[in-house]
Amino acid sequence: MVCFISFPSVRVYDVVVVGAGPAGATAARLLSRIGFKVLLIEKRRLPRPKLCAGAVSLRADKYLPPDWENAVLNTIYGGNLGWRGERYVNARSKEPVVKIVDRASFDLYLTLKAEDEGAEVHQGETFLNFRNLYGNYIEVETDRGSYRAKYLVGADGALSRTLRVYGYDRKPVPVVEAIVETRIGDMDEVFIDIGLVKWGYGWVFPHGEDRVSVGLASLKGEVRNLRDLLKDYIENHPLLRGKKILSLKGWFIPTSKGSLIKGEGRLFLLGDASGATDAVLGEGIYYAVRQAHIFADCLSESLEETRRCYGKRLKTLEREFLFAYLTGGLAYNFQGLLFKKVQPRDLEEFFQFLRGELTFKEIFLYGVRRFLSALSPF
Ligand SMILES: Cc1cc2nc3c(=O)[nH]c(=O)nc-3n(C[C@H](O)[C@H](O)[C@H](O)COP(=O)(O)OP(=O)(O)OC[C@H]3O[C@@H](n4cnc5c(N)ncnc54)[C@H](O)[C@@H]3O)c2cc1C
Repeated sequence: MVCFISFPSVRVYDVVVVGAGPAGATAARLLSRIGFKVLLIEKRRLPRPKLCAGAVSLRADKYLPPDWENAVLNTIYGGNLGWRGERYVNARSKEPVVKIVDRASFDLYLTLKAEDEGAEVHQGETFLNFRNLYGNYIEVETDRGSYRAKYLVGADGALSRTLRVYGYDRKPVPVVEAIVETRIGDMDEVFIDIGLVKWGYGWVFPHGEDRVSVGLASLKGEVRNLRDLLKDYIENHPLLRGKKILSLKGWFIPTSKGSLIKGEGRLFLLGDASGATDAVLGEGIYYAVRQAHIFADCLSESLEETRRCYGKRLKTLEREFLFAYLTGGLAYNFQGLLFKKVQPRDLEEFFQFLRGELTFKEIFLYGVRRFLSALSPF
C-alpha cells in the first residue's frame, strides 16, 4: 500500500515582520521599497486602539513618509512645565516642536504605506513561535500557518512574544493614560507636571479639539498605585477638574538604560520589543521608526554583514539612551530643585532637542551646567 502524506505548503519570504506598529510598519515599507519580499503579520485588525499619548517629536519627521501630516491631530508650539498642576513655567517656539497623532489612524496609515510599497499584510494573525535561528531559513509559526524567511523582525511591542520565544523575561514599566473630554479648541501647547511620582511625570496633551490625553509615567517602575494617582491628578488639575473621563487604562513602556536587545542569528528586534524608549520622556515612536531605517539600511544578502552593521549602527542609539538615563537621573532625583530653578530658556533648549537640533548628550551636559550653577552661591 502506498501512503501519501501531504505537507501544507510553506510560503517563503525574504523578511517576516511581526507587529504593525511604527517599527514594524516602517520596516515593512522600507524593505519592500528596496525590493525584498516582505510579509507583515499583525494580530489585531487595523485600525486598532493603541494606548499612547501620540506625541511625535519633530526629529522623527525625516524618518516618516512625506505626507504623514495627514495623520496629525494637533501641532504643538509650546510647553508648560508645572509642579503638581499648580504653577507653570511656559515657553513657546515659532517652529513646531511636536505633532500629536491618533495611534489607531497613524499605525493604519503606516501599514497602508507598507502595502503600497508591496508588502503583504496579514491582519488578525498572531505570531506564535520561531525555530531554526541559525539555519538557512528561520521558520515562523502563527495561528494561521507557517512561513520561512531569511530574516524575522520582532516588532511586536512592549510585551513582545518574539522576545519571549527568544528567551527574555523582561518586565517593562507600567504607564497609565486617560482620555478626558474637554473643549480645548486649538490648544497648541502641552502640559508636563513633575513632583507627582518618582522618576517620572504627568502629562496633558491635546487630542483633537474636544479631548486630551492625560497620563502618568514613572519610568523606573517604582510606583504601584498609578491609577489612583492619575485620578487625583485629573481631579486637581485646573484644566481637567470636573471633566468627564472617557477611558482610563494602563500599558507598558520598556525603558532603556543604554542598551538594546538586538536579537541573534536571523532574528532582529525593533522598537519596544528591543527596549527602545528613553528614560526621560518614555518616547518610543521616534526610536521605533529610526531603528526601522537603520535595519533597512543594514539588510543585505549576508547575514553576517547585516548583523555587524545593525549592531554597529545601534550603538549611536544606545549612547542616546545612556545619556537619556543620565539626564533622567539629574531631572527626576532633584525634581524640587529642577522646578525651583527652571526658566523658559531651559524649555527652549529642550524644544531644540525635540526638533533634532541637539542630542541627549548635549541636553545632559546642558543640564549638568544648569545644575551646578543652581547649586553655586554666586
Ligand atoms: C500610555 C503610553 C503613552 C505613550 N506615549 C507616547 C508618546 O506620546 N510618544 C511616543 O513617542 N511614545 C509614546 N509611548 C511609547 C510608544 O507607544 C511605543 O514606544 C511605540 O508604540 C513603539 O512602537 P512599536 O512599533 O515598537 O510597538 P507597538 O506600537 O506596540 O506595536 C506592536 C504591534 O505588534 C502587534 N503584536 C503584538 N503581539 C503580536 C503577535 N504575537 N503577533 C502579531 N502581532 C503582534 C500589536 O498588536 C501592535 O500592533 C507611549 C506608551 C504608552 C504605554
